[in-house]
This record gives sequence, structure tokens and C-alpha cells, in this order.
Amino acid sequence: MKLFSILGNPVSHSISPKMHNTALNGLHINGCYIRTCIEDGSTLLNKFHSLKLDGANVTVPHKEFAYELCDELDSFAKQIGAVNTLVKKNNKVYGYNTDAPGFYKAIESFGSIKTALILGAGGTAKAIATILKEKNINVTVLNRSQNRLHYFYENGFNAYSWDNFKPSSYELIINTTSAGLSDESLPLDQDLLNTLMQKSQFAFDVIYNKKTPFLQKAASNNLQYKDGADMLLYQGVLAFNLFFDNKLDNDKITKYMKKTFKTK
Ligand code: NDP
Repeated sequence: MKLFSILGNPVSHSISPKMHNTALNGLHINGCYIRTCIEDGSTLLNKFHSLKLDGANVTVPHKEFAYELCDELDSFAKQIGAVNTLVKKNNKVYGYNTDAPGFYKAIESFGSIKTALILGAGGTAKAIATILKEKNINVTVLNRSQNRLHYFYENGFNAYSWDNFKPSSYELIINTTSAGLSDESLPLDQDLLNTLMQKSQFAFDVIYNKKTPFLQKAASNNLQYKDGADMLLYQGVLAFNLFFDNKLDNDKITKYMKKTFKTK
């Protein structure tokens, strides 16, 4: 039997076990996906081995730790310095990042986009900025503080803090901050956000299962908008397929994982 787990802290709220177990059952694969809370990120790999896991998903706050601990990294994970999927192959642990391609698949329904503004500069912002740049989309990053902007300067992005931002127009605005996750705050000054949204067409919030204040603003500005549920779904589909050497059909995995979202 194959064994998988979500590794992070907290993990009690995660729907990954339900998503992956539904797909395992639906595809008649003998396997189980559990949840494991890890307080100290440096113990992540020991835990992976002691539980005899075949694969895992890594969530907050350990994605950077996972990056440091893998034996092998795929080129995208290497580029952004964060890993959300671990796979054991020939006694080595391989690290991947499926958040970025998961996000890109989720915005497919918006159609072709040329300019994007990312709010926030954490791990998720890095992943999203990197994949959008790879797809030839002009990316601007706007963060509350300067601290986390170095990665973006070094990699050729337009990057600003609230103090030195010079607004322009962006087709897509993406919230990658946690503003609105467990409170009712906006990720940016209300007037500035309204001005930006009046010139935009699309909004995306990585937070899922909630119409955040950011998405409420998008709705009142008549933007087409999405929450992070599809991103969560597709990062899970891609991770699941990596657990099985990419030999499965993504559409079939999607079909089963989607059921989790409907019955939630
Ligand atoms: P990080 O902690 O790495 O980054 C958070 C960023 O948000 C920082 O740039 C921080 O700014 C900014 N920020 C935090 N609070 C506020 C606020 N109140 N107002 C303005 N800016 C703020 O987080 P992650 O990138 O790891 O995760 C971000 C979110 O993405 C989480 O909510 C997570 O759940 C979600 N997520 C969703 C996924 C999905 O599949 N849908 C996948 C991965 C993540 P500063 O630098 O100034 O502190």
C-alpha cells in the first residue's frame, strides 16, 4: 500500500487528505493519505522517512525548509526556492512546486492576459510571478514592506512597496497576501484598490472558500473574479500525478478531486 501525507503546521483544516483519498479510491489505487503536523521544519525529512511515505505535500510554513532538504529538485522549484510536493524515487526525495502551474491552470478561464499586478511578496507571490513571467506576462509586484522584494528585483520584476508604488493599469490583480483570510481586511488601501480595479478586468484571490473583502471589491467594480479553490484543486491534481510518475490522466484525477469540493 502506498502512503502519502500533508506535512505542515497547522494541518487540521487542510482538505488535501480528502482530495487525495477521493482520487485514490476513485482510481482504485491501494493507498492512503494522512495528515501530519510538523512543528520544527528541520525534522521534515526525518518524519518523511520514519513514516515511510511514498510522497507528501508540504504546506505553510515549511515550503522553504522542504526546498533545502530534498535530494533532487525540479527546475521550477529550484528557481523559486520553495517545494510543495515530495516524491520518493529510488531512495531519493525529489522536490517539486505545483502551486505555480496550479495557479496558471486556474486562470486559464480568464483567457489571454498581458499584464498582472501581484499584491504580496511571500512564497506564493514568488511562484505566481515566476510562472507568469515564463508565460510572457508583464508582472508588477506590490508589497506592504520592502523586506521581501529582493527576490523580485534580482529576477527582473517591477517591484514596489506601498511607499514608492507608481500605479499603472493591469488586466489582472492577484491577492497573495493573507489579508482577508481570518479577518475582514483589504490587502491594500481601499481608494488605491478601487482606482486599480477600475482599470482592470480580472481579479484572483489565492484564499479559497471565502468571498474575501478583496473579491467583494472586485465584484463591486464589475471585474471577473475567482477565489483560490481551482488553484488548490489543480496543484493537488499535478502533485497526485507526480506521486505516480506522471503516468495517470490529469482529467480523471481532476474528476475525482473535484467531488471533494462539491461535497464540502
Ligand atoms: P507568506 O507569509 O510567505 O507571505 C505573505 C505576504 O502577504 C507578505 O508579502 C506580507 O507582507 C503580506 N501580508 C500579510 N498580511 C498582510 C496584510 N494584512 N496587508 C497587506 N499585506 C499583507 O505567505 P504565503 O505566500 O505562503 O501564502 C499566502 C496565502 O496564499 C495564504 O493565505 C495561503 O493560504 C495562500 N495559498 C493558497 C494556495 C491555493 O492553492 N489556493 C496555495 C498556496 C498558498 P510583508 O512582507 O509586509 O509582511
